[in-house]
Amino acid sequence: MIKVIKSSRKTISIQIDKTGEITVKAPIFLSDEKINDYIISKKSWIEKHQNFNLSIINKNADIISKKKVYFMGEIVDFTEDFGRKIKDFASVYLIERTSFLAKKHGFSFKNVAIKNYKSRWGTCYKNKDITLNLKLICLNKNVIDYVILHELCHTVYFNHQKNFHSLLKSLIGNESEFKRELKEKSFILNIDY
Ligand SMILES: [Zn+2]
Repeated sequence: MIKVIKSSRKTISIQIDKTGEITVKAPIFLSDEKINDYIISKKSWIEKHQNFNLSIINKNADIISKKKVYFMGEIVDFTEDFGRKIKDFASVYLIERTSFLAKKHGFSFKNVAIKNYKSRWGTCYKNKDITLNLKLICLNKNVIDYVILHELCHTVYFNHQKNFHSLLKSLIGNESEFKRELKEKSFILNIDY
């Protein structure tokens, strides 16, 4: 099922969410035929994403059904107090870790807040306020550090351009493994604890 939303936008785009639902956003005057052609041209892209989502769902059935949970990168049994536990733990660990890493690498930030976002692991605002997703606590320490360092680098470069990436690379080395891990675990963001 593909949802088509027409609006006053100028370009056509396609998105697929974690449940596999596809949304096409198109300019209001674009014909249905043109929209169909566009969707057909994206067929292999759609299949690739759907296969990726399917493999994540299969691989993590116990986590999705809340029999098990990830905690600091380890799979452990789910307990009813898990939501409170990660909230308490995140508000101490993530804040201390951010201060530690900032001090170690000479960054300064204004404030760090812990939030329960559904779509992102962290954010850095222009005023150097950082927010981190409490579900980072589900990931292993190296990946948590990677997200924190990514946000800290934004206190120096407020973009994702070359300087930003070379600064981040000088701190963590090759990003690709961390990025893959975050993508693989992003389904956790949609689970309610
Ligand atoms: Zn960023």
